[in-house]
Amino acid sequence: MMRSNSISSVSSLSSRCSTADPEPSMQIFIKNIAGDTFALEVPESTSIATLSSLLAIRTNLPAQDMRLVYAGKHLDSSSSTLSDYNIGRESTLHLALPLRGGAPKKIRCQFKDCKDAAQRIVGDCGFCNGHFCGKHRMLESHACTGLETCKEEEKQRNRERLEKERTVAIKGI
Ligand SMILES: [Zn+2]
Ligand SMILES: [Zn+2]
Repeated sequence: MMRSNSISSVSSLSSRCSTADPEPSMQIFIKNIAGDTFALEVPESTSIATLSSLLAIRTNLPAQDMRLVYAGKHLDSSSSTLSDYNIGRESTLHLALPLRGGAPKKIRCQFKDCKDAAQRIVGDCGFCNGHFCGKHRMLESHACTGLETCKEEEKQRNRERLEKERTVAIKGI
């Protein structure tokens, strides 16, 4: 019952002086994404959720995107209050950038306009450093640019081997 009381006192900050507020209030500081710090006066029992909605109004950011950090911790807006995080008078909270996208992007097969997802590890080509799908992971199937040098080396090896054999053959005569 005190909770709803405190929320309404927060939303009418301008008129708080005229009424005797049973809730002790405190000034905290918010450092926004741009690095600017502004002060905010809130009742000590303010919940993280209330603070988020206050800041949403203040910063024009959607409340669900609001990520508040204090002392290196992300504030959980579901149930906690400022005091749960030991946030007191003159504490400085940080507004963090919202996480966008989440999961890292899937790697696509790099063969021409193949739309398949590249296979992890087995799809990595050690010759051209490319990432390929199951169909294109073989050197021949993705026309590997490293294949030329690979073939070249093999030719070279063959030549040397032939040379050696020939020498041996000549000596044998
Ligand atoms: Zn492919
Ligand atoms: Zn390759």
